[in-house]
Amino acid sequence: MEMQSNIQEYLKKTGFKEFSPKAFLFDMDGVLFDSMPFHAIAWKQALANVGVQFDEYTVYMNEGRTGKSTVNEAFEKQYNRTATDEEIQNIYNDKAAIFCSIAETRPMPFAKEVLNLLHANGKKIVLVTGSGQKSLLSKLNETYPGIFNNENMVTSFDVKYGKPHPEPYLMALQKANVKPNEAVVVENAPLGVRAGVAANIFTFALNTGILQDEILANEGANIVLPSMQAFHEIIPDLLQI
Ligand code: MG
Repeated sequence: MEMQSNIQEYLKKTGFKEFSPKAFLFDMDGVLFDSMPFHAIAWKQALANVGVQFDEYTVYMNEGRTGKSTVNEAFEKQYNRTATDEEIQNIYNDKAAIFCSIAETRPMPFAKEVLNLLHANGKKIVLVTGSGQKSLLSKLNETYPGIFNNENMVTSFDVKYGKPHPEPYLMALQKANVKPNEAVVVENAPLGVRAGVAANIFTFALNTGILQDEILANEGANIVLPSMQAFHEIIPDLLQI
C-alpha cells in the first residue's frame, strides 16, 4: 500500500503502536464546500472597509482561525494592537453579510461520495470547523443528508481557542470517543493541518486552494493530496487498515 511509509512515519513520530482509523474528522471550508474563494473576497472587503489591508493569499494562510482571531491578526499587523470586541463583532458581521451576498453553495466535488462511503462502512464522521458562518453550517444537512447532527459537529461556537490550537480536534476525538491513533483529519488549511498534527492525529492535507504543497507539508501533514477526488481514491486502502 502506498500509504505504508507515511503510516510508519506517523507511528514513529507519535509513539503509537498502531494506526486504526475509526473516525474521520472533516474541516468544512475548502474540504466539504468549495467556499474559500468567497471567504477570501469577503474578508478582504470587510477589512478594507475599516482601512485594514488583507489580501487573498493572507486569507488562505490564516484560514481556520475563528473570526475573532482573524480580525486580531489583521489588526496586529496594521495597527500593532488587537481589535476591540465591538470592532470584531462589526467586522465579522460585515464579512458574513458580504459572504452571504456573493457566495454560492458549492459542494466540493467528491465530498458526498467520500462521506457516504465512510458512513456506509461504519466510520464515525465529525465536522471540525473554525467557521461560525451560519449560512453554510445550515446547508450541511441539505448537501450531505444523514451525515451531520449536533452530536458530531465542532464549530466556532464550541471552542475557546480554535485552530491552530489542537483544541477543536481534541474535542472531536471526545465526540467520536476515539483515541488520536483511531482518527484521521482531513484539512486544506495550513493552520488546520497544524491543529490536527498537534492533536497527534494522522492528517491528510487536500490542497484545494492557492497555496503551495510545501506550506501544507511543512505544517506536518502526513499526506498531501491535490483534491477530494484523490482522497476518495485511497479510501479503499484506509478501510483495509
Ligand atoms: Mg478549510
